Amino acid sequence: MNGTMMSQPLTISSLIAHAQTYHGGTEVVSVETDGTVDRSNWGTVGANARRLAHALDKLGVDAGARCGTIAWNNRRHLEIYFGVAGSGRVTHTLNPRLTPEQMIYIINHAEDQVMFLDRTFLPVAAKLGTHLKSVKHFILLGPRDDEAAGMVDGLLFFDELLETGDAGYDWPVLDENTPAALCYTSGTTGNPKGVQYTHRSTVLHSIAGNQPDGMAIAARDVVMPVVPMFHVNAWGVPYVAAHTGAKLVLPGPQLDGESLARLIDAEQVTLSLGVPTIWMGLLAGLEKTGLKAASMTRTVVGGSALPPSMIAAFRDKYDVELIHAWGMTETSPLGTLNQLLQKHTGLSVDAQARLREGQGRPPYGVELRIVDEDGKELPRDGKTQGELQIRGLWIVESYFGQDKTALTEDGWFDTGDVATLDADGFMIIRDRSKDIIKSGGEWISTVELENIAIAHPQIANAAAIAARHKKWDERPVVLAVPVVGANPTEAEVLAAYDGKVASWQVPDRVIFVEELPLGATGKVLKNKLRETYGDVLMEDGGT
Ligand code: ADP
Repeated sequence: MNGTMMSQPLTISSLIAHAQTYHGGTEVVSVETDGTVDRSNWGTVGANARRLAHALDKLGVDAGARCGTIAWNNRRHLEIYFGVAGSGRVTHTLNPRLTPEQMIYIINHAEDQVMFLDRTFLPVAAKLGTHLKSVKHFILLGPRDDEAAGMVDGLLFFDELLETGDAGYDWPVLDENTPAALCYTSGTTGNPKGVQYTHRSTVLHSIAGNQPDGMAIAARDVVMPVVPMFHVNAWGVPYVAAHTGAKLVLPGPQLDGESLARLIDAEQVTLSLGVPTIWMGLLAGLEKTGLKAASMTRTVVGGSALPPSMIAAFRDKYDVELIHAWGMTETSPLGTLNQLLQKHTGLSVDAQARLREGQGRPPYGVELRIVDEDGKELPRDGKTQGELQIRGLWIVESYFGQDKTALTEDGWFDTGDVATLDADGFMIIRDRSKDIIKSGGEWISTVELENIAIAHPQIANAAAIAARHKKWDERPVVLAVPVVGANPTEAEVLAAYDGKVASWQVPDRVIFVEELPLGATGKVLKNKLRETYGDVLMEDGGT
């Protein structure tokens, strides 16, 4: 027998409809590509999303069609998120830092019918143009622009397109399992793979990910996602901000520390989210400008491991709490977030800080386990390392366009990360399985070696890699970027490992470099470093 409650699908249009009705006057502030600031609100964003949905209908864009975006974090991009998905189409965000070949591959693979572009990326689109088989409409995010019109044949203009749509458009009632958004993994190994989120998975991720022990974004917050809207849907923040009615600050293209520090003050940002490299930049920006980010209470940090020394730097100097989180494209992305439990309240500040260095616990809706090479579950003792697997309400089942499942026989997704779990579910990423160093059959965590180097006062950033070795197969080598003006020696940095790791885990070499190669989402490209430095110990004779 059925229950006696209403049955309503979990749809993305319900998130924006809520924001429009109940938080219509709350601001959405957007730094435009030309540096000007656009001040809008959820009422306007909601109405524009409806206009866009209607305009796409009139343009004849198919139901279910993928609509690509190559854009910064800004107000029009936000309207696309809701207008495209809300009308039963799929928002496909592309990472502009990919190579042209990767972009062509992805756009053709996704068969995007529409391509929304920021002004910055018009030249890219003009170049890709003839290689793109499926795109029928290129739409510039802005008003009419005659110079731009000359660069791409038949270019349409977002603001003109909106005028053709009706702000009173009724959102269609969609099945909650309809696809809503598509993101590709960056493809450091092989071709990029697409993950297609559904309305249901997106809404559940937004709600469960925003519990008090999750992102905890409230209507009184001012949220600034620095994480790009093309990086796993800005970790879901646009959806969360809509359903909570938080003020949203979209920072546009200028993501250097100084610009962010000024924007934080100007808009009184209380919470921000991004990868560790962004916060390293912000620390430097605050230092340089003398600004204090006084409105900021917390930031969510993920995408790669958060160096513990950064937690202390933000806490002690700026009273900002860093909240460590872990996830991936395949997990929407929230897999874990680090908040303490009631039993930890009596611990010392230092003990609490140490617990918060890890990646945290899964929210309701996802489960984690670690397994050995044969797929046998390993103990949750906080010590045993294994392959991390995940399952849950917003986890990938199969990649876009592939029939075969991406899961293990018993229905778990293998993350490719190596982790420990404790009895409470606190997870610590020890490495990615392809990065971990296997020295004489024993594992050495590159993350641990990096954290020690980064904590050294003369080191700004560091990456540890496995270098080939005649006797031990692989040995650790650290590439370190000195702080500007500092001149550390190899021996000084190596001394930092004394007593912190077992002697056989101490790196064989520390090599100083000016910068580390970063990938499209701001993560260090370790495969590049391995290509360049993977044989340094062989050259040395590798004793
Ligand atoms: P890619 O890095 O391949 O572009 P994703 O952006 O989906 O893909 O990144 C997912 C991976 O990033 C995870 O599998 C993990 O290795 C790493 N990662 C994400 N968050 C963290 C974190 N907080 N600590 C350590 N590694 C992380």
